[in-house]
Amino acid sequence: MQPINRRTFVKAAASVAGVQALNAIPALAQMKPRLVADSTPLGLFDYANVELHDGPMQRQFEENHARFLNLDDNRMLKVFRQVAGLPAPGEDMGGWYDLNGFSLERNDFHGFIGGHAFGQYVSGLARAYAVTGDEATRQKIKRLIKGYGETLDAKAKFFVDYRLPAYTYDKLSCGLIDAHEYAHDPLALDIHEKLTRAVVAYLPEKALSRAEQRSRPHKSTPYTWDETYTLPENLFLAYQRSGKPLYLDMAKKYMEDDTYFNPLAEGNNVLPFEHAYSHVNAFSSARQAYITLGSEKHLRAAKNGFEMLQKTQSFATGGWGPNEAFGEPGVGQLGDSLSQTHTSFETPCGAYGHFKITRYLLRVTKDARYGDSMEQVLYNTILGAWPIQADGTSFYYSDYANTGKKVWYKDKWPCCSGTFPQLAADYHVSTYLRSHDGVYVNLFTPSSVHWTDGGSKFQLTQTTRYPFDNKIEIQISASQPHEHTVYVRIPAWATPDPVVMVNGRTVTTQVEPGSFAALHNTWKDGDRIQVELPMPLRLEMVDANHPNLVALVQGPLVLMAIADSRPTFDRQALLQARAANNERGDWTAISASGGDVAMRPFKKIDKESYSTYVQIRS
Ligand SMILES: [Zn+2]
Repeated sequence: MQPINRRTFVKAAASVAGVQALNAIPALAQMKPRLVADSTPLGLFDYANVELHDGPMQRQFEENHARFLNLDDNRMLKVFRQVAGLPAPGEDMGGWYDLNGFSLERNDFHGFIGGHAFGQYVSGLARAYAVTGDEATRQKIKRLIKGYGETLDAKAKFFVDYRLPAYTYDKLSCGLIDAHEYAHDPLALDIHEKLTRAVVAYLPEKALSRAEQRSRPHKSTPYTWDETYTLPENLFLAYQRSGKPLYLDMAKKYMEDDTYFNPLAEGNNVLPFEHAYSHVNAFSSARQAYITLGSEKHLRAAKNGFEMLQKTQSFATGGWGPNEAFGEPGVGQLGDSLSQTHTSFETPCGAYGHFKITRYLLRVTKDARYGDSMEQVLYNTILGAWPIQADGTSFYYSDYANTGKKVWYKDKWPCCSGTFPQLAADYHVSTYLRSHDGVYVNLFTPSSVHWTDGGSKFQLTQTTRYPFDNKIEIQISASQPHEHTVYVRIPAWATPDPVVMVNGRTVTTQVEPGSFAALHNTWKDGDRIQVELPMPLRLEMVDANHPNLVALVQGPLVLMAIADSRPTFDRQALLQARAANNERGDWTAISASGGDVAMRPFKKIDKESYSTYVQIRS
């Protein structure tokens, strides 16, 4: 794949149209012209093509949408207006979002990074608008972009002596390009260009590793790391959406090749001691380098990096990065962390980065294990996060300590309040994907996806209580019969015999755990697919150095022990845990001392103490 100019793009677009006529691809018909032809085998549906029905994913989407739709514009814009010397009415936002108060010595994060998440709030609203088409949301985005534009001067003086310029610019960049892309905001791209041209003066000459940043401390703060290596993702997108070479040049400049992507591409695990979320997020810079530049090296870096993340840094929940850092593999760092910290996984940010990279690697490889990994993080981390409160109080860390508890984060409006609304909107584009020959069903959740093909209309509707039930039903609506393939993810743990039925008959095509079952058919209105996944109980040790610290897992769900101190079990007794009340999701296991212990998924845990990993009596 080569980077292409406008002329070759026209050809690529024409050939896409040709493929469309032959194979009648859903949603491709609605694909907008692009400067870069994305040849990824699986494409995204538009946000508006997917509807989430009553269930926890829909609830999180609606909660986040409402939270930011109802947040006062003046408060959101206040810090930018203050620095610009404009009238700045409205209350302070508080927490990380304000301008002053930060002190590392006092562990006070008030005013840590003023205005940092404004762009993410706008991005979340823009994606929510793409889902709902809600006019009030579009109007709010318009007011926020206009208001922000009024505070931006040609030198972006907001960033003078600013602690983390790349960090906040990256989020502003995302908000502005999403406002343009999804809410068709008329000002957003011009403001984005003005901001980008000005902000360069505040950025280093290249992406800096943490070691490099330590050697050149910021003059106003001992808090030295900025996240320059995450910039290229949005810069490549800005290039794709605007066609301006400025963004392409800048994206290339901020690829952290020397200390991160090159070694990852060669299979060297350079994750240890890096900041966890931002370095997973950086995988998305690598994937955009692949899309935009055709750089195989960067695809390899993203794939290898993700594999190292899974194999050396991940808990049974799919979460990673205790204390927001990657550890050294092979020395039992994950098991050790259980007695050392309660800040085990940065939940909304980590899940957002995880969803982005798994969705993308799934699109490139069609490999079902990326879908498995996405749902593991979905059910065991983010769906158990408490909703952002009106005053900015937020859920931040999942706690996998020997005895853990859910708590609110101490400072309002942290990073995780920015990624949560983006992620919840992205549930829509993560659930179904499209290919040249049909539709991929990736996540199992009450939902539907619809598309038109020529004059015909199609819809798949999923009904399920998964993962609290092992059955999924997919109903097909079609204005006329149509030949295509419905691909259904069969998770790798679904052994020994997953069953797929079409119109009540068990299909004879291969239904292999760890792959997508391909259901090729001339689908007609009223056809029905039923899936039944075996969900055996299994034990997963935290790491090889702690073989007797295990999590009880059923299907995609970790079942955590509800107890005031970490309980001990005999291995067989734990594996014989029984569903006590399936509606609530509780299980019961008999501990080594003979008492009943309730086992509960993270999502169903509220204030009670729990142990993610329990002790096995050896
Ligand atoms: Zn966060």
